[in-house]
Formats: sequence, structure tokens, C-alpha cells
Amino acid sequence: MSTADNTAAAPAVVLGEVEVVRLIEWHGPFGPAAAAFPDIPPHIWRDNADWLVPDHYEAEHELAVLALQTWLLRSAGRTVLVDTGMGDGHPRPGSPPFDRWQGGLLDRLRAVGVTPGDVDVVVNTHLHVDHIGGNTVEADPGEWVPAFPNAQYLIARADDAFFGPGNAHGAGTQDDGRLVYEDSVAPLHRAGQTVLWEDSYRIDENLTLEAAPGHTPGSSVLSLRSGPDRALFVGDLIQSPAQLVDPACNSAHCVDPAAAQTSRRRLLDQAARDRAWIIPAHFGGAGAFMTDPDGGHHTCHPMGQTGTPVRPPR
Ligand SMILES: [Zn+2]
Repeated sequence: MSTADNTAAAPAVVLGEVEVVRLIEWHGPFGPAAAAFPDIPPHIWRDNADWLVPDHYEAEHELAVLALQTWLLRSAGRTVLVDTGMGDGHPRPGSPPFDRWQGGLLDRLRAVGVTPGDVDVVVNTHLHVDHIGGNTVEADPGEWVPAFPNAQYLIARADDAFFGPGNAHGAGTQDDGRLVYEDSVAPLHRAGQTVLWEDSYRIDENLTLEAAPGHTPGSSVLSLRSGPDRALFVGDLIQSPAQLVDPACNSAHCVDPAAAQTSRRRLLDQAARDRAWIIPAHFGGAGAFMTDPDGGHHTCHPMGQTGTPVRPPR
């Protein structure tokens, strides 16, 4: 559940030569677990409540508990952000709780010594609203400009096409989706700051983006390989550890259910094989996990307790 200070930056973790800082925007009950994860049968939440509560599940009202957060990486002399949260003051009339939300990312960055001009690379794991709002700031009423004037924004071409105005089937043609693209992606294009990539994109010697379609067509995973350490920033391919009990379970927001299942299984197997940390966008608590495949599901080892599972999923 919410901590006393939701805006605190967790202490940096060093993986190989990469410093990883977690900037938490929000952590709390998101909504009914059955609505957010219709594939997860109620008994999975109940049977695993002893390790899902309080960071991932609120048992009394059966609510999924999620975090909103940005990962700040210092790699090869550059500053990289992974996802930018809901943003500050963006109009979201279709989602009243988030309408004109104040995410505070720039304040949180300043608190760890990063100014907007210091950010070299912004990764959007995908173009859902809660991952791209902080891409831009409102310079004048209704005029949105890149929040990070010196950054390259790395966006999967497939998501740009799906959510952009040219797609008759994607969110770009729906009112809220059009707003989101218009205020959080289009200004980056106008400023010439986007890099649209396909299949994979090497950021530096430690970091590579890889396609993992399913949650959205352009969903991607940021792979960190540095020294002996491995991590996979998986975005929303896994949104709750309850999905580790049965990796076939998608969230309500997975655009292509079959592809999302395939990508999730592939990445969980890869992470187990490589002993890679799995770092999803929305996990509260430890925020990062290793897993051991165990029959059809994965046993969860939170960061900080390697080798000591909170409790094997049943
Ligand atoms: Zn998300």
C-alpha cells in the first residue's frame, strides 16, 4: 500500500557498471483485481495473499495494488530514463483520477541531482498513457514541448504507427487516445527528438532495446547486460507478480492476448536462464525480482532477498 513518502527515490542499485535509481510516482490500490486482470482467477489472489499483500494486492476489497514509477539509469556516461509516468497537468477527461495529474517527475529528478538538460535518452517501453506523460511539459497553455531538451526519445515504430493519427484501428482515433498522442508524442516528433526503431536498438555497450510485442504492438524490453549482472526492464509485459503464478494471464490492457502470452513466457524463461532481474513498470515492493521456473509457474525472489523467496506461488 502507499508508503509514507511516495515520492522518495530508492537508494541506487549498481548492476555491473550501470547505476539504477527508482523514482516512485505513486503506489496504491488501482482498482478491482478482477477488472485489471480478468484472466487471473480470484483464487490465485486469495491463495497467494500472504505474499501479494500489501504491495500488490488489497485483500479486503480485492483490489490490485500497482506502482507508477520511472527508472533512472546512469550508463556509459549518459543519463537514461525508462518510462516517464503520467506527466504533469495533461488533460485526461476520460480518466478523471488522472485528469491534470501532477506526477512530479522533474522534481523527483532534481532531488537526485538531474536537471532536464542532463537527460540524454528517454525510453518509452510502450505508448500507453501512464508511460509517456512526463515526455512533455506545458510551455504555454495547451502548448506541449519535450520535457528533456537534449534527449533522444526512443519509440518503437510499431507503437508510433498504432497510436498515431494514421491508424484507423488504434487508440489514435479515439478521443482520449488522440489527446495522449497529441500532447505526449507528437511534440517530440515536431522537435526532431524521436528515434523510431524496429526489432532491436543498441543504446550503448550495456543497454539494448528488444521488441516484445503483445501488450501493445510495439511493446519493448530494455535489456541490461553489464559485467556479471543482467536485468530486463519489461514494461507492462508483467504488471503484477500474480501473473507469475500463471504466466498465461494477461492484463485487461493487453492488445494482442496471444502475442502477450508468448512474449511473457519467452522473457520469463530468458530471465531465469540468464539470472536476470525482472524489473516491471508497475511492481511495488521490491520492484525487481528474479524467478525460478517451477513447473508451469515461476517462483518469485524479490530483489534484496535473492535466494529467499517470499513464498513459493501455489
Ligand atoms: Zn502501464
